Amino acid sequence: MSLIQIGNVKAKKNKIPTLAKPFAVITFIGFLFLAVIFFQPLLKLKLINFGNWASLTLSLGLIVFGSLGWIYYNFANTIPGIKHNNIFFNSTMRRGLIGWSFGILITGFYIVLYFYEKFKAWGIPPLLDSLIQTVNPLSLLLSGQNADRWFLYGTFYTMAVLIMGVRMLLKYRHNRYQQIRTLSVMFFQLGFAFLIPAFLKAIKQPEFYFTYFWPLKPDYLFPWGVKNLTGKGSVGMFMICWGIVMTFIATPVLTYFFGKRWYCSWVCGCGGLAETLGDPFRQNSDKSEKAWILERWLIHSVLLAIIFITILLWTNDYFGRSILGGFTYTAKEWYGFYIGAIFSGVIGVGFYPILGSRVWCRFGCPMAAILGILQRSFSKFRITVNGDQCISCGNCSTYCEMGIDVRAYAQRGENIVRSSCVGCGVCAAVCPRGVLALENGPRKIGRFTGSNKNPLAIIKDSLLNREIYSESKKQYSEK
Ligand code: SF4
Ligand code: SF4
Repeated sequence: MSLIQIGNVKAKKNKIPTLAKPFAVITFIGFLFLAVIFFQPLLKLKLINFGNWASLTLSLGLIVFGSLGWIYYNFANTIPGIKHNNIFFNSTMRRGLIGWSFGILITGFYIVLYFYEKFKAWGIPPLLDSLIQTVNPLSLLLSGQNADRWFLYGTFYTMAVLIMGVRMLLKYRHNRYQQIRTLSVMFFQLGFAFLIPAFLKAIKQPEFYFTYFWPLKPDYLFPWGVKNLTGKGSVGMFMICWGIVMTFIATPVLTYFFGKRWYCSWVCGCGGLAETLGDPFRQNSDKSEKAWILERWLIHSVLLAIIFITILLWTNDYFGRSILGGFTYTAKEWYGFYIGAIFSGVIGVGFYPILGSRVWCRFGCPMAAILGILQRSFSKFRITVNGDQCISCGNCSTYCEMGIDVRAYAQRGENIVRSSCVGCGVCAAVCPRGVLALENGPRKIGRFTGSNKNPLAIIKDSLLNREIYSESKKQYSEK
């Protein structure tokens, strides 16, 4: 019997299924091919001729094929149900050497991606050019145009969502909600965030992402974003209307009926990546009260910043850029760099293996902040609790990627209405007693009444009220 030992604790090591091993080799060969393509221009070698379908197939093609085979044979012969054996002994999933290495690799990729132009200007060898050329045949096929770094990024992103989405489908095959939700994020990433923007480029229309809205994609409601689309005829006008309707009408209406999950766990690309590629790391989210307080300060500060910048930009534009000069432009650049690139990309995804899968969604996303305020103030969504059945195992809290102490609510028999809950449903999927259920029932019944506040009171409460359990405690003691 193969054992892993940490301190006095011993755990049985997961055995790799025999049929999965050849697929591990295939995946490794694919990565090796990609590594050779990446390094050969830097080392001034000419080992592989890339930029054609053969090199694309031998690199990304083998990675996709090998990973899918590996995933399939790792889950195929297992019993449907909760699968968290040995996670806390696993180097990848519990901040071990592999986890840290993976985090550094992703973070490095984001830095190279975002600083691509700056690196070029500094005379640093173009690190991504060979990879960009590798995906060029796919770009020519889909959009008729040469690939750039963003197409490379989109390809990697979509591959990650699809491959790890298949893993989710197999891992959570005992849970219908997880299956439908995973299919949804795979569909929106592939169709709306990858194929449709490429198709729009092919037919010479503005590249537009129909699943991203202000304030997550603030440019769409910035003055030049709107003016740029206005000049593109009826298609551009449709895109502006789409953005306005989704931001100001669809978002509150859908959140009223379904909570923030309709977007964060079903549609959004950031959420899609967190729910698929990030699933092995969800247990690394910080569950402490300090993290909760930090979360509320940060996310609302980012929201206030983007509202402020948007108002400034429109004000400055209205007065012909005469009153605020270059300040608004600087503020917008500052936001784009520190929040849009560093926070959401480098930290938000690069730190998955260290801080959990929803760092950006939890601490920084202004869209999540708005949805959270709506969810807590007037949505029908909540997680209902059959408290009598809870055995306090803590699975729900451990695997909540948003750091919510679900068990604390379950133990008190109190329904969960939290701004940060993205409705991923994993707490319910891993509960061995079926205690938790995601519901959109009538608003007054079974809803934590302390949540019935107006949106401004919720922001104030988030920023000032450090007694975060006070309402829950009050309600509990009144029972
Ligand atoms: S409370 Fe449950 S549904 Fe909400 S984010 Fe946490 S795990 Fe997901
Ligand atoms: S997973 Fe279920 S049984 Fe375990 S603490 Fe959470 S609600 Fe209770």
